[in-house]
Amino acid sequence: MKIGVPKEIKNNENRVGMTPAGVFELAKKNHTVYVQASAGFGSGFFDEDYQEAGAIILKTIEEVYASSDMIVKVKEPIQEEYHLIKPSQVVFTYFHFASSETLTKAMIKSKSVCIAYETVEDADGSLPLLIPMSEVAGRMSIQQGAKYLEKPIKGRGVLLGGVPGVPPGKVLVLGAGIVGIQAAKMAAGLGAHVTIMDINMKQLRYVNDVMPNHVITEFSSEYNIRNRIKESDLIIGGVLIKGAKAPKLITRDMLKDMRPGTVIVDVAVDQGGCFETTRATTHEDPTYIIDDVVHYCVANMPGAVPYTSTVALTNVTLPYVIKLANDGWEKACENSVPLSKGLNIVKGKVVYKEIAETFNL
Ligand code: NAD
Repeated sequence: MKIGVPKEIKNNENRVGMTPAGVFELAKKNHTVYVQASAGFGSGFFDEDYQEAGAIILKTIEEVYASSDMIVKVKEPIQEEYHLIKPSQVVFTYFHFASSETLTKAMIKSKSVCIAYETVEDADGSLPLLIPMSEVAGRMSIQQGAKYLEKPIKGRGVLLGGVPGVPPGKVLVLGAGIVGIQAAKMAAGLGAHVTIMDINMKQLRYVNDVMPNHVITEFSSEYNIRNRIKESDLIIGGVLIKGAKAPKLITRDMLKDMRPGTVIVDVAVDQGGCFETTRATTHEDPTYIIDDVVHYCVANMPGAVPYTSTVALTNVTLPYVIKLANDGWEKACENSVPLSKGLNIVKGKVVYKEIAETFNL
């Protein structure tokens, strides 16, 4: 199959749909991979790396789309790309159709086959192509939180690990899912005191089994949260209720119970956030302060570490790309239930129930 990897043109997107390692695996199986010139620059991969791995470099995005049976990318196509997509072409990427009627209608019109990373689903209901981005954001939340605890950027002036003779900082993590566990692990590694809360006892039992003793589990309730926030230096929001808005676990009135300079990082911002005072921010201007509490609410945290994010993403997408390339999309989806759940729009028809319902299609 002919596979195309265009350069991402969405504002500030430095990730790329495939690493040279991915190209190498596909070339080994006699597939042709076209990579747009400089597509990997933002993630630290050069055209020569791709060429050495077996790719053919094409100068323009138009050439990549025109030459390929399947496009592998990161973000949903934007307006400038709509007209490049051909009938029957497979487009494998994050789409998040429910959040854009314009995109949905454009892809219907293109008559392409849209397979969305975010709806590929394993038998246990987990979403394997979303997990790596949660892992990145969870780990990053502590790195960012530790930074904003510094006094010059209005934090409490606390070093999370403490030093001999000075107790470490206290971190509260809301949610013991992918984000929460990775955050707790990083905070514990720095030597901080960590409390992690969830309403799912199975998750808390798991955390209790695998984490060191200075990570405490506590059931998530308003009473417990109100108590803990008074003594926390850094609070991470990592809760998720599938298909729903995040619950507001920290309300505006609770900010006054926190100490000045406390930092809150709301990773769940993309689902509306789990703090009432959350509003989405960007990497250019990541924080704002309300009632002396520093809020960090960047909606696209993995975008700041494109090398790690690109490699992590290709690690999980590549097995599906190989299936699609070897068998063609129809047979590949027939043979793989997880992949078939990724089918969102097929040649002009919306085949994913929730999206059809969202837009009455
Ligand atoms: P997950 O499903 O693995 O974990 C969510 C956890 O929240 C679950 O264990 C669930 O039981 C728990 N939870 C639900 N209600 C709760 C409550 N009232 N109190 C405490 N815990 C509760 O989800 P995840 O992959 O960890 O993702 C978490 C959030 O982070 C999602 O909204 C996701 O979209 C978001 N995210 C954001 C970024 C970013 O860049 N900002 C990146 C990746 C993921």
